[in-house]
Amino acid sequence: MRLTMITRREFISLCMSATAAVSLADLIAPVVREALAAGQVNRPPVIWLELGSCTGNSISLDNAVNPSLHQLLREVIDLRYHWTFQVAQGDDATRAIFDTVEQDAGRYWLIIEGAPMTAEGGRYNYVFFKDGQLVTGLDALKMLAAQAKHVIAVGGCACFGGPAAAHPNPGGAKGVWDIIKSPPVINIPGCPAHPDWITGTLSHLAMYGLPELDAYHRPVVFFGKTIHDLCQRRQQFEDGIFAQFPGDPGCLLKVGCKGPVTHADCPLRQWNHYVNWPVKAGAGCIGCASPDFPDLMMPFYEHLPNVYTGSVKTNVKRLGKFVTLAGIGAVAAHLAVGVATGRIKRHWLDGTKPLPAAPPENETQRRRDQEEQEKKCIAKAKTQNRKLTKPKETWVGRLVRVVRSGGKDED
Ligand code: SF4
Ligand code: SF4
Repeated sequence: MRLTMITRREFISLCMSATAAVSLADLIAPVVREALAAGQVNRPPVIWLELGSCTGNSISLDNAVNPSLHQLLREVIDLRYHWTFQVAQGDDATRAIFDTVEQDAGRYWLIIEGAPMTAEGGRYNYVFFKDGQLVTGLDALKMLAAQAKHVIAVGGCACFGGPAAAHPNPGGAKGVWDIIKSPPVINIPGCPAHPDWITGTLSHLAMYGLPELDAYHRPVVFFGKTIHDLCQRRQQFEDGIFAQFPGDPGCLLKVGCKGPVTHADCPLRQWNHYVNWPVKAGAGCIGCASPDFPDLMMPFYEHLPNVYTGSVKTNVKRLGKFVTLAGIGAVAAHLAVGVATGRIKRHWLDGTKPLPAAPPENETQRRRDQEEQEKKCIAKAKTQNRKLTKPKETWVGRLVRVVRSGGKDED
């Protein structure tokens, strides 16, 4: 397929420029529309299957506002099945799945939201009836992926297990890529995934084929840099100005921000139609787009080195742990260089001051605190007074005084 109206490079730069007040969907839709009109793009048939999840990614996609989700689906993809968005129910709905498999084998895309539940043959998650029998999400995934052109995992649960796989994970939730090896799964993580990450990846697939992916199969255009690299509070991190409590000004590293080990472009793209994102609002990134989310990102409000290590880990988690530790090492090295060059010194010391005392719990406590405070003030005043009334003596002066007193005055 050869497009004349926009090159892939231009498309990528459009995706990365979606930081202004225009949505990525606003930018992409006309391009796709033009490509469709020119017969250069065919809307691919899509089956959107939800497994173990909260439907958060569908809701996130529903936040693509202009053009609306309806326009987007009409112009970029041909959505055949989505149990939340569709009107059809029961057999009428599932018939669309089987018709698509029969008529468009090797051509349709399978989008998975939610984690496949693998414990006890997958019986923790049934998704539809076939021939009067309940079908598990696990079986449906295997059956539909076998004939799909692309398999796309949307959201943290589908990509890496996410919250569905959090310890102790009784349902055996896993990432789709742990189960499906061919075709290679494209991962669009996040809890939920940003609507732009979904529409941008789908549009790239429709117009140019597979986007460049990183080691975790995430599109590099959206997940190529860490939150920390792009963060507006990065200068405060460099200067060693740290918030002591969420909501305070300053870098949020010490109150648990996982930006240094999380790859996503939230600081540029922002959420809720490009209005805000956690760090801008005073809360640290909790690392929802990370393969380690949530187990290795907890406790959310504790400094990175105290990252909790869950006892149940898959290979991905172990790899993720390595990445997390490497990230911590990088941050530590960065701090060490900052201190060695004197760049951080003063602000770092300011930033490490102890938290102010907690407010008194009752009147007795308040009086006790006040008396304590007064005693400290009086003691401090006495010390200062002594220093003021007794000028510092030089060693020559002291020698003269001792000689004059015949050696008696030796205080
Ligand atoms: S630690 Fe968090 S708040 Fe601080 S600069 Fe990095 S991403 Fe921003
Ligand atoms: S800032 Fe962090 S926690 Fe928030 S959406 Fe982005 S990756 Fe997820």
